[in-house]
Amino acid sequence: MITSKPRLVGIDLGTTNICAAMVRGRTPRMMELDQGKTALPAVINVSGGGKYVIGAAARDLLVTDPKNTIYGSKRLIGRQFNSLVVEELRHYFPYEIVEGDAGCAAVRLNGETLSLTDLSARILAHVKAQVERSAGETVPEAIISVPAYYNDNQRQAVKEAGARAGFTVRRIVNEPTAAALAFGFNRAFNEKVLIYDLGGGTFDVSVLQIAGNVFEVVATGGDSFLGGVDLDNRVIDYVLSDIRHAHKADLADDPVAMQRIKNAAEAAKIDLSLIPNAVISLPCLFEKKGRPVDVTIPLSRECLNDLTSDIIGKTFDICRKVMESNRLNTGDIDEVILVGGQSRMPLVQQLIERNFGKPPRKGVHPDECVAIGSALLGEALGSSGSVTLIDVLSMPIGIALSNGSFRKIIDKNSTVPVSMTFRLPTPKSPDACFLSLDIFQGDNEMVVDNEFLGTLRVPVAAAGRKVEFRLNTEALLEVVVEMPDGPQRIELTTCDTPLILRKALDEERQRRESQATEEELSRSAAERPGFLNSIMRLFGRS
Ligand code: AMP
Repeated sequence: MITSKPRLVGIDLGTTNICAAMVRGRTPRMMELDQGKTALPAVINVSGGGKYVIGAAARDLLVTDPKNTIYGSKRLIGRQFNSLVVEELRHYFPYEIVEGDAGCAAVRLNGETLSLTDLSARILAHVKAQVERSAGETVPEAIISVPAYYNDNQRQAVKEAGARAGFTVRRIVNEPTAAALAFGFNRAFNEKVLIYDLGGGTFDVSVLQIAGNVFEVVATGGDSFLGGVDLDNRVIDYVLSDIRHAHKADLADDPVAMQRIKNAAEAAKIDLSLIPNAVISLPCLFEKKGRPVDVTIPLSRECLNDLTSDIIGKTFDICRKVMESNRLNTGDIDEVILVGGQSRMPLVQQLIERNFGKPPRKGVHPDECVAIGSALLGEALGSSGSVTLIDVLSMPIGIALSNGSFRKIIDKNSTVPVSMTFRLPTPKSPDACFLSLDIFQGDNEMVVDNEFLGTLRVPVAAAGRKVEFRLNTEALLEVVVEMPDGPQRIELTTCDTPLILRKALDEERQRRESQATEEELSRSAAERPGFLNSIMRLFGRS
């Protein structure tokens, strides 16, 4: 009897857009997700009465209903509310970020607190429904891609969101690995490839060795706050300054004008990837002395390059560092593969050629390859020995020491799966009933600068016993303690923020408050940026 495999979809859960692909007759194809389009904007609006709007329709509500429209959830999912990153992001997003269950960052919408895992599950359930509609059959399984730099909590949260959406999540795969699969699966290559991934909000670089269907990550790096939106912001500033100069008007606090400028700036930036000159044309943008004012600003590719070359330059600095720290030369790289919408900018392609001595590889679709690679991986998983992924841990995992420093237990770039053991310390206080170890992940020497993963809490009788940190092939962490009756898996708790982190956060909040007061005093009302600037600055940092 022939039993057919359950249908599987590969999902690229992007910061800006979500894409999905399925393999049919050995050929991967992109699925329609939003009104005939294959890219679903990663935006969700929650209105009263529990009504959800997802995709392009939700993106249209960013201006009229900013407090209930969530974008950038990829940055927040799996993060602790009491963390320096969330503290920073809270000031950039117009919606309210609050503390949810188990200390996780959550959002408050129309009086209801929703976890980011729940919201992502809603989006993924929508994706599932759309995929099933296009495929004409049920699609129970998924492979979901995540950035290589995602920490353990973020990976777990995405997996959980997939499960809540009704999928059996066969695997979480790193985005660059998926991109490499789209390029090299079943093509008998023996090459070193560099994946340059510049999306809307993040930059990722990975070097992989492809040998047949063995895909081995040899180096990774990136900046999770560097992407296309930073280029948009430069064009927006250029437009605002032109308007200030030509019309003596400041539109920074005019939400509708700002949204129109943002859309026009991004559209001009995209046009300039194809044509050398574009025009930003905004009829009746604002009123002056009761009359509508039309704004027309020419923008050339050279001008865009001048405005943004330092941002693009930073991505090449990161590539250089990643290569140097892994003793790789540009001559070692056989192919450069571009991923992410912003990598289509001609300046990126020119600099690839200048830095690597060869143009980027043609024929790999920057917007589709991650979803396609995930789908191909799904297809291969069932057939034994058809693909081997050798991935690495992108950030070390370790424990907090009493002086606030970080003791690494598993090093960065360790090949996964991996396991490391150490002994539980004896408690400081003789009266303690429990032993607590705070576990963090990150590249920094002090734990406050890293991400808190959770606390390992065991009875004091376990002092001196062996603890094992186990990472599986998806780089998901399991903590096992050797107990008298055998090894026992212990769930980490995240409800109590470690004291050292709370202190750092209090300091950060005080610093922000005093800075805000100083700024308030020193700026005139007309100059003060309104909260709507944060809509315009979508996922950017400044
Ligand atoms: P992604 O996160 O991969 O969907 O990339 C989204 C980013 O790519 C946004 O900042 C877009 O403005 C940008 N983008 C999309 N298409 C192009 C293009 N043809 N040229 C330049 N940037 C683009």
